[in-house]
Amino acid sequence: MAKKDYYEILGVARNASEADLKKAYRRLAMKYHPDRNPDDKESVERFKEAKEAYEVLSDARKRAAYDQFGHAGVDPGAAAGAGAGGSFSDIFGDIFGDIFGGARGGPQSRVRRGADLRYNLDLSLEDAVHGTSVKIRVPTLVACKSCEGSGAKKGTTPTTCPTCGGHGQVRMQQGFFSLQQACPRCQGTGQVVSDPCRECRGVGRVQEHKTLSVKIPAGVDTGDRIRLAGEGEVGEQGGPAGDLYVYVQVQQHPIFTREENNLYCEVPISFVTACLGGELEVPTLDGRVKLKIAPETQSGKLFRLRGKGVRSVHGGPVGDLLCRVVVETTVALYE
Ligand SMILES: [Zn+2]
Ligand SMILES: [Zn+2]
Repeated sequence: MAKKDYYEILGVARNASEADLKKAYRRLAMKYHPDRNPDDKESVERFKEAKEAYEVLSDARKRAAYDQFGHAGVDPGAAAGAGAGGSFSDIFGDIFGDIFGGARGGPQSRVRRGADLRYNLDLSLEDAVHGTSVKIRVPTLVACKSCEGSGAKKGTTPTTCPTCGGHGQVRMQQGFFSLQQACPRCQGTGQVVSDPCRECRGVGRVQEHKTLSVKIPAGVDTGDRIRLAGEGEVGEQGGPAGDLYVYVQVQQHPIFTREENNLYCEVPISFVTACLGGELEVPTLDGRVKLKIAPETQSGKLFRLRGKGVRSVHGGPVGDLLCRVVVETTVALYE
């Protein structure tokens, strides 16, 4: 398959400046980042593609080689570098550190987003396999009702910060250098509250317990997480809310254990049935089914019931139920 042109991937002209490249890359990284597109292979590919293109074009030496010789001019190994198998968060951290931190951006980009929340949810195996709907109660920070999140006393509004004139940034002279940094008076928000709201002491948010209904899709397993966008803590002074992540933890089941999409269980059979064969009722997650036992069945033999396992939330074929028969010699005494 022919490789796509790096300039095309980033959607920039061949004479694009470094700033243009960075801007284009940021836009794509935000759009296709795996955290924003869970389980979307197409997005992952786009993200990797953009990353590779940016890594080459942002390096003056590699860019020159690429301009002259195309893909052959840049060592694919070097370009892939931290790519494919590497961690996305590293590079993402870089680029976002740049967007939200440091000296960039006006007041808009400095509004602080609320924190993400994590909720650990215990589920029975039945609920995890069949899916369910649960109500959860989470302690969180919500927008203050009295001031509607602004932090300013009822009837007043935050005013433009006099120190930075609403820019959120101030210039500092240091020797020969002029540095731009977040305004210390308004912490970069560009606004100040002169008459703070009493309910929230000017923060714009208050502690509260929120009850949420969460739909659990069928086939989840321990370690799966469900993202509820915008259900995390609300930001200060009207900042956007973070997300809430529900982490699934499947409890131990008295009969079944799950491995991947297969279920395992042990079924005791009498010595007589093991010797002479017969029909057995075995449990599944959807009721009991009949299982034929051949004569002279050994203890420990594994019977596979196709399709009686789990249909994973991540797709793929339905698993099987594997029953291990255990010949019980003592049971006969009580029969
Ligand atoms: Zn308030
Ligand atoms: Zn200010």
